[in-house]
Amino acid sequence: MTRLHFASALLPSGWANDVQVVITAGAIAEVTPGTAPAAGDERHGIALPGLASLHSHAFQRGMAGLAELRGDSTDTFWTWRETMYRFALTMTPDDVAAVATLLYVEMLEQGFTRVGEFHYLHHDRDGSHYADLGEMAARIAQAAEASSIGLTLLPSFYAHGSFGGAAPHDGQRRFICTVDQFAELMAASHKAIAALPDANIGIAPHSLRAVTPAELAAIIPLADGGPVHIHAAEQVKEVEDCLAWSGRRPVQWLLEHAPIDRRWCLIHAIHTTNEEVSAFARTGAVAGLCPITEASLGDGIFPAREFVGAGGAFGIGTDSNVLVGIADELRQLEYGQRLRHRERNVLSGGAGRSTGRTLFDHALAGGAQALAQATVGLAPGARADIVTLDTAHPSLAGRARDAVIDGWIFAAGSGAIDCVWAGGQKVVEGGRHRLRQAARERFNASVRRLVA
Ligand SMILES: [Zn+2]
Repeated sequence: MTRLHFASALLPSGWANDVQVVITAGAIAEVTPGTAPAAGDERHGIALPGLASLHSHAFQRGMAGLAELRGDSTDTFWTWRETMYRFALTMTPDDVAAVATLLYVEMLEQGFTRVGEFHYLHHDRDGSHYADLGEMAARIAQAAEASSIGLTLLPSFYAHGSFGGAAPHDGQRRFICTVDQFAELMAASHKAIAALPDANIGIAPHSLRAVTPAELAAIIPLADGGPVHIHAAEQVKEVEDCLAWSGRRPVQWLLEHAPIDRRWCLIHAIHTTNEEVSAFARTGAVAGLCPITEASLGDGIFPAREFVGAGGAFGIGTDSNVLVGIADELRQLEYGQRLRHRERNVLSGGAGRSTGRTLFDHALAGGAQALAQATVGLAPGARADIVTLDTAHPSLAGRARDAVIDGWIFAAGSGAIDCVWAGGQKVVEGGRHRLRQAARERFNASVRRLVA
């Protein structure tokens, strides 16, 4: 049993002072506000619940910053993707474990306590299958276990190179499965995460580019009630190709042909009309927004004001992991809206409300829904995922309650995190994960070889 005491904590009911939290077996057992610290309580200042990064491709952390050199033609998502494929094609299972471990260490240092790993690097470098189809999934599970991050594994079904069942190209050979192979991969993935107490599983049809309607219908039952994540409408070309194939835009097609409901998470969904935005919001599905990656790749700006105005739920993901940070993602999300609408505090949710707090609440609830976490936040029954902020940080000086969150997101950034508990384990102290040094050395050794 661990007993923590916080001067101030953000509970599901709002801010409370003098909060004692009792942790047993990795979960929050009791939360008692308005109580003085008892002997033996570990005392801290400001506590928040950890958030989920609901969308990650861990291996891409290895190429962060390597696609910033302009090529001969206009650089776009599609030229970035070629760099990503070249990098993906060189990585061994050990490299993936090394890169994912450092990534999850960094996520925890930033306050992300759960990751939705949209996992599509399944096969060997020549495209042949590993003896255990779950080889790569097991490396992701190892990284989650070593770092203590909560894992929602989302094995990705990827079968085609473009809309209408086009053959995949050679650069995609490590991603490709038939429906039958994917069923085997799901079974192997269940095995790979079986030893992780807080892990769960869903499925990720990669996109309408990669999956035919018949395949989509065939794999959805494999989610077995778990989350279903899909990339949709990230790029204008993708919308144009989808229109040419079906006469429908990607989100429009999904709304008309797939059983979209609260179990679903549509990743990006940037290029959507007002009609699509309203219909999407009504389904109760989550918009998986990855503002740093969407900016990095020149994808566009999600119509967040309209979507939230229609009652839509969203969470945040770190996607390509080019930069990892809760504050960075939420700030980029709000700043994108400010640039688009030439206003301030666009996503605050109304007069007198804190933008940082509103963004945080959305990301907490949307992330939990998208990764099928029934209980989340500083509440009995939730996984003990707790983040404390550094009250001595200059950007938090003199702040209380929601102003602390605003100070963190808009001014302090990553430097404001002090301690992080994940599944009841205190893994980050003074902003440093206990595995940071070892994980960096292992990552650096892999990446030096991969970029040589
Ligand atoms: Zn993605």
